[in-house]
Amino acid sequence: MLLVSPAVPQSPVYTGRLAPSPTGDLHLGHARTFWIAAERARAASGRLLLRNDDLDANRFRLDFVATMLEDLHWLGLTWEEPMVSQSEHMPLYRQALKTLHAAGLIFPCSHSRRDVIEAAGAPHEGGANDEPVYSPQFRPPAGAPLPELGDTISINWRFRVPDGRELTFQDGALGPQTAVAGRDFGDFLVWRKDDTPSYQLACVVDEIAMGITEVVRGADLVKSTFRQLLLFQALGEPAPAYYHCPLMCDENGQRLAKRHDALSLRTLRARGVTPAEIIRNFAPNP
Ligand code: GLU
Repeated sequence: MLLVSPAVPQSPVYTGRLAPSPTGDLHLGHARTFWIAAERARAASGRLLLRNDDLDANRFRLDFVATMLEDLHWLGLTWEEPMVSQSEHMPLYRQALKTLHAAGLIFPCSHSRRDVIEAAGAPHEGGANDEPVYSPQFRPPAGAPLPELGDTISINWRFRVPDGRELTFQDGALGPQTAVAGRDFGDFLVWRKDDTPSYQLACVVDEIAMGITEVVRGADLVKSTFRQLLLFQALGEPAPAYYHCPLMCDENGQRLAKRHDALSLRTLRARGVTPAEIIRNFAPNP
C-alpha cells in the first residue's frame, strides 16, 4: 500500500530583489542598500533577483543599464540571472490595471500635477519620492460609472484610497510603522497618461510575479509601502515583508542623490577606492 503523508505546508524560499533604476550612476547609499539586501538573502540561504526599473522614459538611458550592472558587479554583488526588466512586463501591468478597474477601485483624473499641489495647500513633507495628498474634491463620487480603459490610455488613473483607514506593518529595520489613508497620503497614480504604469503599480505587480518575500530598500519609500499594501490587498495577494534601510547623508546632512558625483561608485573607483573598503563601512544593521 502506498503511504501518502499529509501535505506539509512549505514556507516559501526567501526571495529578495535589487531594484536599481538606470537613471544615473549608483552612489554609496545605493551600494549600502543593495549590499544589505544581498546579505539578508545570503543569511536566509535564499534567492536574490535583479529587477531593472526602466519604465521612466524621461530619465531612462540604455547606457545606464550597462553602467548600473558594472557598478553592481564591481561591488561584488551577485544575483540569479536573468535580470528582469520592467519594460518587458507591460501585459502584466495592464492586467492588474484591468482588475482594479473592474473592482471600481480607480478613477480617471484630468488634473495636472500643479492643480494637485495647489489644492493640497500646505507644502508636503515627503520629499522627492512623495506626492502631495490628493484633494478629495477632485474625485468623482464613489460608485460613479467609470469610463472604459481603452487600448491606449491618455489620461491619468488614480487609486481611490480608503479615507481614514489606519494601515500598519512591521518593518524589519525600523520597527512598527503606521499611516492613515487620506491623511498621510491620498489617491495615488496607478497609470499615467503617457500609457505607462506608475512606480507603485509596477512595483507591486513585479513583487507578485517574482515571488518576492522581502523587500529591502531605502527609507525614502516607507510611505510608498502603505500605498503598495493597498494594491496588494486590491489584487488579492499577500504582501512581502519590508526592511527599509536608513538613508545615507553627505557631510552637510543632505540625503545622497544621483547628483552627488563625489560619492558615486564610479568616482570612488576612479580614485582607487576598493569594494572591500566601501563594504567595510556598511554596518550589518544600520
Ligand atoms: N527603482 C526604485 C528606486 O531606485 C526602487 C524602488 C524599490 O526598491 O521599490 O527608487
